[in-house]
This record gives sequence, C-alpha cells and structure tokens, in this order.
Amino acid sequence: MEHSALLARLGTKALVVTGAHSARANGSLADVEAALRKEGIAYAIYDKVPPNPGIADAREGAAAAIEAHADFVIGIGGGSPLDAAKAIAVLARNQLDDERLFQNAFPNAPLPIAAVPTTAGTGSEVTQYSILTNARLETKTSIASESIFPKVAFLDAAYTASLPLRVTVNTAVDALSHAVEGFLSVKATAFSDGMAISALNLLGAALPKLSGDIGPELRQSLLDASSLAGMVIAQAGTTAGHAMGYSLTFFKDIDHGRANGLTMAAYLEFLADQNEPKLSRLLAALGIPHLGALKELLDSLLGEREGVSLAEIKKYASISIKAKNIGNAPKKMAEGDLVAIYRASMKIV
Ligand code: NAP
Ligand code: FE
Repeated sequence: MEHSALLARLGTKALVVTGAHSARANGSLADVEAALRKEGIAYAIYDKVPPNPGIADAREGAAAAIEAHADFVIGIGGGSPLDAAKAIAVLARNQLDDERLFQNAFPNAPLPIAAVPTTAGTGSEVTQYSILTNARLETKTSIASESIFPKVAFLDAAYTASLPLRVTVNTAVDALSHAVEGFLSVKATAFSDGMAISALNLLGAALPKLSGDIGPELRQSLLDASSLAGMVIAQAGTTAGHAMGYSLTFFKDIDHGRANGLTMAAYLEFLADQNEPKLSRLLAALGIPHLGALKELLDSLLGEREGVSLAEIKKYASISIKAKNIGNAPKKMAEGDLVAIYRASMKIV
C-alpha cells in the first residue's frame, strides 16, 4: 500500500495476471487491489495461469488485456504467472506467430510490467525472461528481451508463508540452481559473481533448515536469495541444469526447481572431472566442505528420484543439447555427456 504510487507511474488501467487460487489465499491479490483503488487505477483480473504456462495461455491473457484496454500488467504469483504476465505484455501490443514470439525483437514496446512474487525461487521479478511450455518443440522456450524486465517488483516474504513445504523446497532449489549455473556460466562477470556469492551464502545457511516449520526470517532469506539469484541469471544466463530440466518437466511433469536440482550434483561432478576452477569457491560460498556433501544435501531435500528409461534419457539428451543455454556451460558439452548426467541422476527403469 505504501508504495502504491509506483503503480500509478505505469499506467491508468491494469490487467492483473495471476494463478487460480494462491494469490487470493495469501493476501497478495487483496493488497494489490487495495493499492490500485487507492491510486484510482481501474483494473481487470486474469486468473487462469496454470503452472508451466504455455503459448496458448499467454495468447488468452493477451486477449483479456486488449479487451480490458489495459495499458500495464501486474503479475502476482510464482514464476508461472510472472512469466505469463511478461508474454501477455508482449502479445497485447504485438501480433506475432509462435516463431516470432521467441525472436525477441518486437515492433511495438510491450506493456510495462509490475511483479509481485509469492514463491521464492524463480527470480522472474528481476529477469528479462519469460519461459513458456512449447508443445511443438516438446520443451520450454524462453523469450529473452530487455523490454520485458519488470519496471517495479514488490517483495514481501509474508506472501510466501503459505507455501507448502514441497513447493518451498523445490523453489529454493530453483534459486540454488540459478546461483550455481550463473556462477559457472561463461557469461559470469565480477558483478554477477558478487550476487551469486551472496545468494549462495544465504542458501547454504537456509537449505539445511528446510523441514517442518519455516519462520519469517528463513522465508525472508529465501526470497532475498531468490531475487539475488534472479539478477545473476539476468546477467549470466542459466546453463545445463535448466536445459536438462526442461525435458523432465515437459515429459514427466516434474516441478521446475526439482527438475534442475535432480541433475545438479552429476553436472557439478562432470565439471569437477574437467578441473573447473570456480567449483571450490562455489562450495566455500555455500559453506559446504566438498561436492559429496552437497550431493547429500540435495539427496535429503529431493528424496527418491523419478524413474526413466534409457530410451527416454536419449530422447531428453537429444532435445536438451539443442537448448541455447547449453552454450553457457564453462566446458563444452556433447550429447553423450548429457546422457551420462541423466543416467547418474535418475532411477533407471
Ligand atoms: P508456479 O508454477 O508459479 O507455482 C506453483 C504452485 O504454487 C501453484 O500451484 C501456485 O498456485 C502455488 N503457489 C504460488 N504461490 C503460493 C503461495 N504463496 N502459497 C501457496 N501456494 C502458492 O511455481 P514457480 O516454481 O514459482 O514457477 C515455475 C515457473 O517459473 C516455471 O514455468 C519456470 O520455467 C519459470 N521460471 C522462470 C524464470 C525466469 O527467469 N523468468 C526462472 C526460473 C523459472 P496458483 O496456481 O493458485 O497460484
Ligand atoms: Fe529456474
């Protein structure tokens, strides 16, 4: 409420983009509506964004934005509604077929975006990415454009208090994967590394405490780490973990953060075998003595691995190797490397 004037700078008619339930339950939608009323901003609500939204969801939301004559968009929720809000902001102003949507050059500037995260993991509130399920390519495809950076993000860890333990863990592992992959990306800089180290410090302390009751201080730590790690990938991009995770989500319906976490230890072991020099700094920032201890921590957070067949693994590797972010890995990766990482990470059935 106290920051409602920041919304008034974005426009006069808002489309609020959110999921089906949680924004009503955790108070974030009511707070945004109160702020909009205070500023005299008219608004419509599009509350149909599913987890892992697809291109069709974004098109439906864009139609709602056009119908409401919205001149800005407010995303409330986890990464799914925030990413949908970004794609809606693009499509409300641009008629683009699916291919051109992912070419990142839009004739008209997207609508301005405000973001209210209610999970602590994706960092989407501070990134230029919108990641959409792409049924034709059987994976997730990213829009990456500076024009969809949210103009303003409102971070209130109280909204995350209602997250079930499973979602808390999976989203925290997503934040970890952003810090880890961004820190070990060829695009990493001294600036992104500073934020990655801060995120890793916070996550190293928080992750072992994620069981049972999670108090407000821990929630705050996770949200801070998530946004810091989001700023890391905004600069340095993600790498193999995300590329490989998309197949696990697309074909096995595994939550995004968990999907990244499943292959993390084997990916880091691959890099250790190649003498990756930054690995020791990464472990030190987490406060973890060696890679084996990180693997144990991940095992305790993720529990039993899902079963996949070797034929499935070969298919996933053939898709993941084509993902753009594979090129950000600090060592060159071949399709066979991805097969080996999947094999070491999953239960083979
Ligand atoms: P999510 O798919 O947005 O939400 C998962 C579930 O959590 C939904 O059922 C949601 O319910 C519920 N939920 C959200 N906030 C809640 C709260 N405060 N209390 C209780 N339940 C709550 O999950 P996510 O992991 O945050 O986002 C994943 C998506 O983000 C993926 O599509 C991934 O590809 C993308 N991603 C984007 C970036 C980026 O840079 N843009 C980075 C990483 C990942 P409702 O549906 O009812 O809201
Ligand atoms: Fe992610």
